[in-house]
Amino acid sequence: MLEIAESQGDMATVAALTGHAGMTAAEAGDLDGAARYWRRAIAAGSTDEKVADRFSVWLANRHEYPEAAHVLRQALIANPDSGNISERMRRRLTRCERMQAALRRPFPDVAAAHREFETLACSECGQTFQRSRIRGRKPLRCPSCAAGHLAIQ
Ligand SMILES: [Zn+2]
Repeated sequence: MLEIAESQGDMATVAALTGHAGMTAAEAGDLDGAARYWRRAIAAGSTDEKVADRFSVWLANRHEYPEAAHVLRQALIANPDSGNISERMRRRLTRCERMQAALRRPFPDVAAAHREFETLACSECGQTFQRSRIRGRKPLRCPSCAAGHLAIQ
């Protein structure tokens, strides 16, 4: 039946059948199989809230935030004012969009670390050393040469 609907380009039937097949697979504990069906349902234009709800949880757990957000938007646009389930989906969509935005920023911690530290070359032993960029004059010697100088004096 699914093949017939697909061959006829009957996307509404494809969406309904694959959405339902996904639910059946999920009930049986086969979540990966369920996700394969649900992905086909969404591609066929499914706006089924139950499919969007379950599938977006599965996607978000795998950090597939752009796809999760797409699934949620597709269902929310079609079901703008249905109760609890869409409220939950709206909150999840917000979370997915926030995670998606965070992931787009490339390595924020590395960038911050580069701003906070600078690499200097020791005038005595020539080795490079790092110090935090914040305040004061740049030291000419690395910490171990500087310590040696203090000991000599
Ligand atoms: Zn040195």
